[in-house]
Amino acid sequence: MPPVRAIRRFTVRPVLPDALAGLGTLAANLRWSWHPPTQDVFAAVDADVWASTGHDPVRLLGAVGRDRLDELAADEGFLARLGAAEADLDQYLTAPRWFQQKVADDGPRAIAYFSPEFGITAVLPQYSGGLGILAGDHLKSASDLGVPIIGVGLLYRHGYFRQALSREGWQQETYPVLDPDELPISLLRERTGERATISIAMPGGPDLVARIWVARVGRVPLLMLDTDVEGNPQAYIDVTDRLYGGNSEHRLRQELLLGVGGVRALRAYCRITGHPEPEVFHTNEGHAGFLGLERIRELTVAPNGPQLDLATALEVSRASTVFTTHTPVPAGIDRFPRTLVEQYFAEPGATPGVPVERILALGAEDFAGGDPAVFNMAVMGFRLAQRANGVSLLHGHVSRGMFNGLWPAFDEAEVPIGSITNGVHAPTWVAREIFELAAGRGADPRGDDVDAFWDVVDQVPAAEIWNVKRVLRERLVVGARQRLERSWLERGAAKAELGWIDDALDPDVLTIGFARRVPSYKRLTLMLRDPERLKALLTDPERPVQLIIAGKSHPADDGGKRLIQELVRFADDPAVRHRIVFLPNYDIAMALPLYPGCDVWLNNPLRPYEACGTSGMKAALNGGLNLSILDGWWDEWFDGSNGWAIPSADGVEDVDKRDDLEAAALYDLIENEVAARFYDRDADGVPTRWVEMMRHTLKSLGPKVLASRMVRDYVRELYSPAAQHARALNSDYAGAVELAAWKSRVLAAWPQVRVEHVESSGIGDAPEVGAPMSVRAFVALGALEPADVAVQLVHGRTTSDDELVDTRVVDLDVAESYEAGRHRFDGTVLLDHAGSFGYTVRVVPRHAQLASVAELGVVALPS
Ligand SMILES: *Cc1c(COP(=O)(O)O)cnc(C)c1O
Repeated sequence: MPPVRAIRRFTVRPVLPDALAGLGTLAANLRWSWHPPTQDVFAAVDADVWASTGHDPVRLLGAVGRDRLDELAADEGFLARLGAAEADLDQYLTAPRWFQQKVADDGPRAIAYFSPEFGITAVLPQYSGGLGILAGDHLKSASDLGVPIIGVGLLYRHGYFRQALSREGWQQETYPVLDPDELPISLLRERTGERATISIAMPGGPDLVARIWVARVGRVPLLMLDTDVEGNPQAYIDVTDRLYGGNSEHRLRQELLLGVGGVRALRAYCRITGHPEPEVFHTNEGHAGFLGLERIRELTVAPNGPQLDLATALEVSRASTVFTTHTPVPAGIDRFPRTLVEQYFAEPGATPGVPVERILALGAEDFAGGDPAVFNMAVMGFRLAQRANGVSLLHGHVSRGMFNGLWPAFDEAEVPIGSITNGVHAPTWVAREIFELAAGRGADPRGDDVDAFWDVVDQVPAAEIWNVKRVLRERLVVGARQRLERSWLERGAAKAELGWIDDALDPDVLTIGFARRVPSYKRLTLMLRDPERLKALLTDPERPVQLIIAGKSHPADDGGKRLIQELVRFADDPAVRHRIVFLPNYDIAMALPLYPGCDVWLNNPLRPYEACGTSGMKAALNGGLNLSILDGWWDEWFDGSNGWAIPSADGVEDVDKRDDLEAAALYDLIENEVAARFYDRDADGVPTRWVEMMRHTLKSLGPKVLASRMVRDYVRELYSPAAQHARALNSDYAGAVELAAWKSRVLAAWPQVRVEHVESSGIGDAPEVGAPMSVRAFVALGALEPADVAVQLVHGRTTSDDELVDTRVVDLDVAESYEAGRHRFDGTVLLDHAGSFGYTVRVVPRHAQLASVAELGVVALPS
């Protein structure tokens, strides 16, 4: 008989006894996912079910029998713990926190944070990798700090895929259906009880309708749009089918929903709940960039809006928009055929009333080397956001170079893209045993004060640190064996063949972790460059090494799947399979014990393609030592003794040669530095020099790699200035009208602006360091006033072809005005360094509401 299939499925939500209502409250807020005491309450409900549901409170409560619930409802001890956990959550949600105490009215009343993926917990699988995990950590830290963020994303029916392996080691993808009723989310409803929806006009069809789910991430609401709504044609229902699937039209529809639909969902949420309207809009990568168009529509043509002209609306929306770019790989930028975008925005279109030519111009690659047939989401992102950043110092630099074409009159250093280095959410990623090391030593980093930890690290005896590490490594080994066995069974092995797995991996062997997505630049298989050398390292009789590896390849990337297969085939060899394992289905659940369990975290991307990287930060917070190419965050914070830098053969054009060189350096480091130090033990078996390095890692990196540091940086450097600019512009929109008019006047007058003549004095024949140099610049401003511009002395070292480097900028002051718009500007600099010195004078637009001198893209230099 064929299997009987249900024609319809639904989930019956459990009814909890009144005394246990608190369990429902705890399960409904994802704060449990980074709060071990709340997890302990769930574990106490039924430890086996808690484990078998993969630590999923909603499914736990659905699966526990009535008898057990009645028993708990009568258990005073349990009720006391439950009450305490509930009170703790309530306190967490309501007490003033950093933002209320330190930022308050200088900061935005609310910030909307848009992202195509959010990785918060394994039980809400709405992420594929780093971008999503970062977004999740951003929301969690914002919640801890009291920063009033609202997340906006999509709810994908299949999430990302589940990865398994075939017998031959080929990646197999499955897409389990997620039932929203089994997820820790609830539907946004109007006050009448009806579900809230938003809609978007689509070309040649009915409107696309979406409902809105809300997840509670501590204090932060996360709105997730979902097109699985009856009445939508199947093609629309499929818009939120899966993360990063389908062709470019499918992606365009998803991004339309995220950007345009996301703003509409926010408005609905604020209208219904009374939540303050966001003053700042942050787009995490370009995918949500259409949000700017919807905001322009609201400000220009929407019947209940202020009916501004387009230029004014653009100023209002730009001032309050922050754009973070995440990829230094040009192929990683989101680009659509221009004709496709035109189809979706031509009248009546997704944002009716916003002229489609203006929209197309915003994403046009109208710079040297651009493709006129393409609509570029990153380019639109920069044009619609007054503030933009990359995600590490190095990535900021690479991004300025990559997008210099948008500001051709300026050097890379002045391209208005800054950087805020990513961070990770310590309460999520640090094993509780690590923080417990500090308890009893006058610090309790388990609460709000993670920073209390770094100061007491030195007080913890080496043996104690080492014992905890052993516990964490063993936990990882045991879990890895279980995953390995499951994988082999799925690959068709019989249980009887798998006896070897009981001894696979060893809780006392130096453990190196490598887990990340598998795009080619991350070089999963670099370690296989010299297979014999690797084998020798793994099986060294005195100082063996073991490797735990994981990662998913994008389903459409056969190149990545071949790399996985190559690695799996190597790891299948009976000679090494006890020392190197590939664990399928890398996700948050696997990641949580992986980082704490590894001694060393390996990262060997092709420099500089790793924008930041965050997995090494999670390892570091658990005392793991990084062994990495100097790329992303590691380039910034490696200090010579908090891990190891794999020398990169930058500039070697031959890719094979480069891989050979870097792999050889990696093997040498592992053998001569890493393993040597790990196995160098004192009389008690403790590797004291290793533990010293763990301590140094915790102290030097701990305070920096935190998402709380990152979110504070965003608040101070981007969100608060954006909110203040936005307020200046749009209290009654007079500021925006003025700014738009000013820009248009300045741009019209700019062709007349010239630096006519520059004189300097005071430097004589043999200038010495410290000598003052006076400069007088005669400039013609045409129709502009001195207040419209900054006349600047730019000075620095000179290269052999007179290019200025390491430049500094000094504003000159207007000293005298002549007829016909001519002025003299004066100033003085000290010759602050020996050696070559050069300078020039330039004129740039100046206005209090500009965030950068490059914003208008114009500059006048001496001819
Ligand atoms: C941290 C993390 C990532 C991102 O790691 P990178 O180093 O940025 O590549 C991806 N997936 C999971 C499950 C993670 O926890």
